[in-house]
Amino acid sequence: MKCRRCKDKGISSKAIIFLPHHNLSLCKNCFGEWYEYRLRQTIKKTRMFTPGEKILVAVSGGKDSLALWYALKKLGYKVDAVHIDLGIKEKDYSLISREKAENLGKRIKSHLHIVSIKEHLGEGIPELHWLSGRSPCSVCGLVKRYFINLIAKKGSYSCVATGHNLDDEVATLFSNLLSWDVDLMIRQAPVLPEKKGFARRVKPLVRFTEKEDLLYCLIHEIDYIREECPLARGTSSLLYKRLFNEVEQTSPGSKLRFYFNFQTNLRPLLPNKSTARLKSCPSCGQPTTSDNLCAFCRLKERVRSVEAQKKQKQLD
Ligand code: SF4
Ligand code: ZN
Repeated sequence: MKCRRCKDKGISSKAIIFLPHHNLSLCKNCFGEWYEYRLRQTIKKTRMFTPGEKILVAVSGGKDSLALWYALKKLGYKVDAVHIDLGIKEKDYSLISREKAENLGKRIKSHLHIVSIKEHLGEGIPELHWLSGRSPCSVCGLVKRYFINLIAKKGSYSCVATGHNLDDEVATLFSNLLSWDVDLMIRQAPVLPEKKGFARRVKPLVRFTEKEDLLYCLIHEIDYIREECPLARGTSSLLYKRLFNEVEQTSPGSKLRFYFNFQTNLRPLLPNKSTARLKSCPSCGQPTTSDNLCAFCRLKERVRSVEAQKKQKQLD
């Protein structure tokens, strides 16, 4: 198979990928250019941020967020990153993830903030899951949101960019549809504007599939963690991704249509009933809808009380 872009320029080169949903075959060089052009267009069209703004990319050490960090830096955006060390010991998951993020930061000379959950809370995500009674992903999301927002505020970043790709967004939308969770559906957008105390959140990779992010990493020799998070095992999002890959195979473009037609045709019609007003947490000052402590501070209190009970038992 030949690269179609090169062919249009009268050059013959071998394609490394065929994108059925765009009916496009591309060589290594043209794929890199196509990816970066499409990324810049998405940022511009959806008004995510301008070239002069200071962006904070949340990097997990996985292929998507590292591809995003690398590409934004290459395109000349003012970008730093933050990595949250989740304290997941199984398969050295957090250790390896952190190393991948640190290595890329050094390579592209971009500043990386590191936050260790264990240093702040005394425990990693698996333990916090048991202590809080929340699912691992729910407690992980809570803690990540808290620290990423804190770093964004302290560093005066205009917005937080995350590596959510089309497959992630399609799986989440499908899950929200299965339960007709209108509140969550309203909040599912490529750009979530700044709210009192919450930085603007953007998802510049919403037009790319996992496979496209992976290929971008491969052609730029970006080293990322290959392992899935051990706590993701059995989560329904993995099942939905598999299902949509099958749909995409028989009907290319389904994922893009499902997500973007929702954004243009349905989301604007949904009633935004959210009347919850944001207040400042009396303990940490971060925004919360609660009249009392924010969810993060409540989690901290819970950890403290369990630790105190343990110590007391040892003394008895
Ligand atoms: Fe956190 Fe769940 Fe993602 Fe693992 S799979 S990093 S626990 S949100
Ligand atoms: Zn708080």
